[in-house]
Amino acid sequence: MVSVNENFIKLPGSYLFSEVAARVNAFKTSRPEVQLIRLGIGDVTRPLPQASIEAMHKAVDELANAATFHGYGPEQGYGFLREAIVKHDFEPLGVRLSPEEVFVSDGAKSDTGNFTDILGQGNTVAVTDPVYPVYVDSNVMAGRAGNLLPDGCWSDIAYLPCTAENGFIPQLPQRRADIIYLCYPNNPTGTTLTREQLKAWVDYALEQGSLILFDAAYEAFIRESDVPHSIYEIEGARRCAVEFRSFSKTAGFTGVRCGYTVVPEEVTAIDSCGKRIALNRLWNRRQCTKFNGASYITQRGAEAVYSPEGRRQVRETVDYYMGNASIMRNALRRAGFDVYGGKNSPYLWVKTPDGTGSWEFFDRLLHEAGVVCTPGAGFGPSGEGYLRLTSFGKREDCLEAMERIAKWAER
Ligand code: PLP
Repeated sequence: MVSVNENFIKLPGSYLFSEVAARVNAFKTSRPEVQLIRLGIGDVTRPLPQASIEAMHKAVDELANAATFHGYGPEQGYGFLREAIVKHDFEPLGVRLSPEEVFVSDGAKSDTGNFTDILGQGNTVAVTDPVYPVYVDSNVMAGRAGNLLPDGCWSDIAYLPCTAENGFIPQLPQRRADIIYLCYPNNPTGTTLTREQLKAWVDYALEQGSLILFDAAYEAFIRESDVPHSIYEIEGARRCAVEFRSFSKTAGFTGVRCGYTVVPEEVTAIDSCGKRIALNRLWNRRQCTKFNGASYITQRGAEAVYSPEGRRQVRETVDYYMGNASIMRNALRRAGFDVYGGKNSPYLWVKTPDGTGSWEFFDRLLHEAGVVCTPGAGFGPSGEGYLRLTSFGKREDCLEAMERIAKWAER
């Protein structure tokens, strides 16, 4: 009889978003007259940049003609996009990459989830807490996480708390960690690391022979100059870090699907004989076997993001969301809340007042203000006592939600 990969059975259901949906649905049934405002969503609401739309229309027309038709593309992505990425995302930072170090994909979720396919099962894993759940769940699937403990943590994963008490700066792991996930600007806390703070992690990884999986999906939202956009701005990172990027939140590609992963030639891991193996080669091999490339249309749309018009349009969109973030941050502070993030990130991380639990506060905002947020506890134990709000909504919804929360807080 065929058997299953038991690691998948160990995974609990996606409690966070299904529980949010269940509570929202129950509320809608009991109070259908209330117009709910959803500030919990991680999806964007602004349309694609016009430059991408035009490029994608043109690409469709090319596919309609035998002379310009494109079938299977390179698994690593088309040269035109890999070159545009190197030129526009990294050269201005003083980071030199070759296009062969860039692997275009259908988004950062798949890449962050799949990357450890090429890493040994015995590696130890460290994540910051609270955490984007994909990092943890993909290691559970791979058998690296151990067992689920009553506090919701996995026995073999090191959780590095990030809370207001430590300024959301994770401490270097006490136990050696082989694979370290860092996400900056962070989802869910919206906080960042300075160059100096990130350098401590690169130095640690170089010293310990660890690999940093650096998720920079929200890089375009950075406003402050001492916040690095790429881990490769830090000396030595080419030897110890892989970086993930996404077109989702900047260019509205959440539905179109495109992202990329940078695997520098120098990043290596050892085999059982202690021989160094280049991860670039292994990732290339993995992708060529299991992935057939993002569509030609999508990659032309992504390339257009780097045209002068595309860049202007993306900037407008990012400014719009960051305008929302600023409105929300100011309004929540005026209403008496402690608010973090929202300066270099579309996420705001709000402390629940008087030690109220995340879920209790979620229920109160839902029932008493008609606003939906995401309870911080759903992102890990250190998220307890916080809520996540996103600035991806419509401006009028953000304004209305802030008015409702301010009135509610006055009571
Ligand atoms: N990484 C982080 C930290 C995210 O928050 C998200 C999406 O919410 C992703 C990756 C996924 O991005 P993509 O849409 O490119 O798969």
